[in-house]
Amino acid sequence: MVWAVAYRSTMRSILDRLEAATDALASVSAAGLPVDGLQELVARTSVLASRLTGIGSRAVGELQVRGGGQVPDPAVAGAACPLPAWLRSVAKVSGTEAGRQVRTSVALRELPAVAQAVVDGQISPEHGRVLTRLVGKIELGALLESQPQLIEVARRTDPDELAQYVRHLLATWCEPDLDAEEASAEDRRFLQLRNTHNGSWRGIFELPDADMEVLRTALEPLARRDGDSDTRPAGQRRADALTDIAGLALRHADLPDAGGHRPVLTYLVPATWTDLGAALQRLHADVLASIDPLALPAGLARALDDPALHGIVGAGGAGGTGGTGGFMVDLDGHPGRDCATGPWTGPATRARIDTLLCDARVQRVVLGEDGQVLSLSTTTDVITAAQRRAVAARDRCCTAKGCTRPPAFCDVHHLWAREDGGPTDIDNLVLLCRRHHVMWHRQLLTLTDLRVPWKRLPQPRAPDLA
Ligand SMILES: [Zn+2]
Ligand SMILES: [Zn+2]
Repeated sequence: MVWAVAYRSTMRSILDRLEAATDALASVSAAGLPVDGLQELVARTSVLASRLTGIGSRAVGELQVRGGGQVPDPAVAGAACPLPAWLRSVAKVSGTEAGRQVRTSVALRELPAVAQAVVDGQISPEHGRVLTRLVGKIELGALLESQPQLIEVARRTDPDELAQYVRHLLATWCEPDLDAEEASAEDRRFLQLRNTHNGSWRGIFELPDADMEVLRTALEPLARRDGDSDTRPAGQRRADALTDIAGLALRHADLPDAGGHRPVLTYLVPATWTDLGAALQRLHADVLASIDPLALPAGLARALDDPALHGIVGAGGAGGTGGTGGFMVDLDGHPGRDCATGPWTGPATRARIDTLLCDARVQRVVLGEDGQVLSLSTTTDVITAAQRRAVAARDRCCTAKGCTRPPAFCDVHHLWAREDGGPTDIDNLVLLCRRHHVMWHRQLLTLTDLRVPWKRLPQPRAPDLA
């Protein structure tokens, strides 16, 4: 007992000196240090903090074992409280974190060399925590023996890489454990999408390994850099690839019905975008010609006479031949009159609509003054399947220089814009991947950026070709 008292007073005097030294260090002004001095300060305080954490953790493990999970309650003389609750109050951490610290500290008792490596500052407390995942899973003797190797791996890797290594070990040595982990990962899977109302959406998801394997296998080849001129960061390329995959599904996949028909990208477009309305009306001159105005109710005949009153709804992708775009031109006085809107995402820019319009199957609806549907034309495939195949055979991939996106991921683009009277002829059509297609309609890409050696330049009215 006398020995223990002396030992304790030694610890106290060391802590007193450590606190005094920390106070002294705290008085050193960061602003007064040169860059290499600042780096030294960060590096050495990081290691010190890790080592102190390791020392504290060792004590927590000892407390847990000695008190059976209970420690004397400092607030009530003679009473006991759970170790995590006490740790939470003294360390000022969350209950979750306190529980985690206790579990790690106890598990580290089974890995004495690893715990010592943390205290020595060779590896970080996070490394230590990762390695405790092996405790209870791998036979104790083998685990003790493998400590030097584990420490060596930890020294060379960051905790994420180490966690990967540990999973490999677990997969090799205790498969049932991996099975259990997989099952629980299955239960946790989810995907949430939230509108940030600033023009974009934010998503969070958790996927089991197997599902992520599918996702990344499809995603990564599409997320590669398209040549040297592709300056998109990896995250952007992956986001584009995800949209490509969805577009591919809309174009070609046998998707389940949405409200009784194939899912189709549909936008509501205001009648005030008259040039667009007029262009679409031109596309449907054939439909107009087939209607006898005298045979129609007066209201509808009036609507057919006024280009601004022609609504158009489009349906894309049916039968694996169409694009992904679709449209509805609305009438004045109805929702959507001031801007184009998508049913899921709300307002859409003119460039976005132009891009979709380039490769859409278009259908026109004529709405009455009270919003009732007066007439509905049949869907027309503006670009025929045969044209689409011919363009794909000629271009082979996206025609933007340096881009190799295959036809399945490309829209068919009108070089001379449809709304300016550009014809849907093979010579006026090229393959563009969605990214380059949007760039074109934002005027970030012109004919000189495309591989179109077959292209004659006869159309003086086309602004892009001027
Ligand atoms: Zn286009
Ligand atoms: Zn491209």
